[in-house]
Amino acid sequence: MSTLPELRPTWADVDLAAFSGNVDTVVGLLPEGSRLIAVLKANGYGHGAVELARRCRADRVAMIATALLEESLALRAAGIDLPLLVLGPLDEAQIRAAVDAGITPGVVGPEELAAACAVARGRDVAIHLKLDSGMGRMGVTEGELPEAMAMIRSAPRLRVEAIYTHLASADDPGDPLTEAQLAAFGPMLAALRAAGIDAPLHHVANSAATLRGLVRPGDFARVGIALFGPDGRVTRPLLRWRTEIVRLKTLPPGHAVGYGATFRTTRESRIATLPVGYADGYDRLLSNNGEVLIRGRRAPVAGAVSMDLVTVDVTDVPGAAAGDEVVLLGGQGDETITAGELASRTNTISYEVFSRISARVPRRFSA
Ligand SMILES: *Cc1c(COP(=O)(O)O)cnc(C)c1O
Repeated sequence: MSTLPELRPTWADVDLAAFSGNVDTVVGLLPEGSRLIAVLKANGYGHGAVELARRCRADRVAMIATALLEESLALRAAGIDLPLLVLGPLDEAQIRAAVDAGITPGVVGPEELAAACAVARGRDVAIHLKLDSGMGRMGVTEGELPEAMAMIRSAPRLRVEAIYTHLASADDPGDPLTEAQLAAFGPMLAALRAAGIDAPLHHVANSAATLRGLVRPGDFARVGIALFGPDGRVTRPLLRWRTEIVRLKTLPPGHAVGYGATFRTTRESRIATLPVGYADGYDRLLSNNGEVLIRGRRAPVAGAVSMDLVTVDVTDVPGAAAGDEVVLLGGQGDETITAGELASRTNTISYEVFSRISARVPRRFSA
């Protein structure tokens, strides 16, 4: 089934039309005057940042955000001409390189602000300024505001295009921190305004906050995970990770399977070998724990996930044969394995499941 004979039959199909549909869905959730910043860090949460960015049209997507400068530079190099925002910390040389490429630094603290001001001594520099409204990670804190204001006022060629903050717990509607952060952000904006520093634009909401309707009219929303349908609810999954059975054997009862012999057959068993492993991002915590889809049925992982191989018990999949398609993530027949399912089986979040599908797994894009 593989189109290139030198490749193993393991790849991820990425449905770009589904991505466009998800962008439309998210844009449809935004209030009047608000626009979308599509967050495509970590190779678009593992989906393929360049191809997704090509699907972002200016009438739908105001900006694309990445974590790293090199991620934004790669998008520029691929011909993406939408405004780009770097959310991670940058030093002075990186800010210079960003400005050269027309990329906006999302300044995350006083050190980076000082670096941006230094660059702005010789040229115009537009930034988004991040405030820490309570997450305690990045952003200018309340205590650092006076210092930040002084720097901004002394840099006439620095333009603060937007002021933003990030929510720590928006995915938990019961967590009072979200409200506390929203309540803290307002006075910080007011303090900046009182010092003559205002920005035409603000952005606060991530996916969870956007889905909860917390975007204020006119604000932008920075949305990542919701564009990828992690649980198949509001938005659709676009990535389908598949492989094929490359070996199938029948083992007698009491036979060991895999490293450490962590699985032992209790009956005559059909054990299938799949050419995929933890080096591809199929988590080792799925050993004796995950399920895959074959012939529209679930089959359990039997034994330890190896670096390059996984063994599954297909005794209860009638007709299972070498060459059968195996779905690790995505749908087959009436069954679906979501990123959320893999995440809960491996004590993590869908973000990590997606972003750890390694570069060794080719992405195949369909329009
Ligand atoms: C990753 C990130 C986002 C997107 O978060 P999602 O939960 O994926 O929507 C938004 N803002 C910042 C600063 C981020 O780092």
